[in-house]
Amino acid sequence: MDANATPSWHDKAARLQFRNQAFIDGRFVDAASGKRFDCISPRDGKVLTQVAECDAEDVDRAVAAARRTFENGVWRDRHPRARKSVLAKLAQLMEENADELALLETLDMGKPIRDARNVDIPLSVRCVQYYAEAIDKLYDQVGPSGPDAMSLILREPLGVIGVVVPWNFPLMMAVWKIAPALATGNSVVLKPAEQSPLTALFLAELAVQAGLPEGVLNVVPGFGETAGQAIGRHMDVDMLAFTGSTEVGKYFMRYSGESNLKRVSLECGGKSPHIILPDAPDLDRAAREAVGGIFFNQGEVCTAGSRLLVHESIKDEFLERVTHHAARWKPGDPLDPKSTMGAMVDARQHERVLSYIAKGKAEGAALRLGGFAAREETGGFYIEPTLFDRVDNNMTIAREEIFGPVLSTISFSSTEEAFRIANDTIYGLAAAVWTRDISTAMKAARAIRAGSVWINCYDGGDITVPFGGFKQSGFGRDKSLHAMEKYTDLKSVWIDLS
Ligand code: NAD
Repeated sequence: MDANATPSWHDKAARLQFRNQAFIDGRFVDAASGKRFDCISPRDGKVLTQVAECDAEDVDRAVAAARRTFENGVWRDRHPRARKSVLAKLAQLMEENADELALLETLDMGKPIRDARNVDIPLSVRCVQYYAEAIDKLYDQVGPSGPDAMSLILREPLGVIGVVVPWNFPLMMAVWKIAPALATGNSVVLKPAEQSPLTALFLAELAVQAGLPEGVLNVVPGFGETAGQAIGRHMDVDMLAFTGSTEVGKYFMRYSGESNLKRVSLECGGKSPHIILPDAPDLDRAAREAVGGIFFNQGEVCTAGSRLLVHESIKDEFLERVTHHAARWKPGDPLDPKSTMGAMVDARQHERVLSYIAKGKAEGAALRLGGFAAREETGGFYIEPTLFDRVDNNMTIAREEIFGPVLSTISFSSTEEAFRIANDTIYGLAAAVWTRDISTAMKAARAIRAGSVWINCYDGGDITVPFGGFKQSGFGRDKSLHAMEKYTDLKSVWIDLS
């Protein structure tokens, strides 16, 4: 190779070092049991490294470190300006190490390197920057108490925050929670998903390099049943912030009720409707976004627009456009910067998605595109982008979250029917409507029970708007200044002046 040539992602991947121990009290340590688990790359099914398998004993150590640093005030009592510079420095270090973070994400969970490098990592950096900048701009309140008293309404950090996250956007889901939790002065114990622990471990190292006191951010890789449950049931964790499936979200409610009544915030699953009305301002763009809204990140997106609701008068024409745009989405080597889709996160998820495709066919939906495993010769877990037509909203593929590249088309004959079908789900995470009519758009925004409603776009928004669900998509909001509320509580101080 020419010594001056820019190394390819493959070359960089070959030289990558993995942090594979737990990060507790400011240092990398083995699990107390000495156990390790295989960290498998979905790209080729090969073991990348073996990672410390934490359980209740390690969680105890991590919570003790977090508790100690919270009580001694080493972080929460630091001047807001000083905390701001630590988080700003962390964002800067993440930016400087963006290639390495992106590679870890791609190898660990199978997403295309161009998405990891252009979406996951920059948005994670921006999130940390945003909460860093917010730290010294928030004020407490003085109450209208009259002349004989002065009342102060103060916001205080909660203490030790447990964070349990999934594998689809490993770093981004983690920082959506860690950044506001740290910004408000809490200490954190993070459990990444067992499928994708690598970026979280690097992040913890960078945080200490940025000046975060040792013990304020701890990372315990491990399985849900053991490490996750131990955090959920821990008597000294004050709040649990979770992103993952609705099923596991319900476990955390139970863990809380059966332990110390810790607060719980849940970002769970979705089955989001993407509604195309005949007066959509740009049908071609709508088709392009309908495709991107389901095939981006291999469909492993909680807000994936997995139910495509199209007015019957334009359905056939619209599906032609969808098929045309779908041609640019193809599973490829995640390390190839031209790949638009990567691999499903693991063999289990691969199997699960294929079984949903089989159910769709068995229940009578018409397969228009894809439907099969791909790139099997690589040993990785790839699936073709898949499109079903003639789906009824009662079919399994319209009711259950598939979390894969499977789009179900449902037709409707009136706007009211579209809203009714949109709401006929246990979920309420997101929805989109395409229309030129402002009153229809506003009616949709009101009528659809979802945490985000997008008009004439899909997946719009940035760090300044809250994100979260209605119904069984959970409760509590990530992003925006509102996220800081859930990591704090109000304290009222009444001063008698009489
Ligand atoms: P999951 O619920 O299986 O796992 C999420 C996390 O919970 C992992 O860290 C896992 O180890 C842990 N966990 C699993 N079982 C546990 C148990 N019994 N006790 C304690 N912890 C346990 O979800 P997943 O398969 O990793 O991710 C996919 C799900 O995440 C989808 O349902 C998706 O919609 C959801 N998700 C939601 C959002 C959102 O913001 N609403 C974002 C991304 C993903």
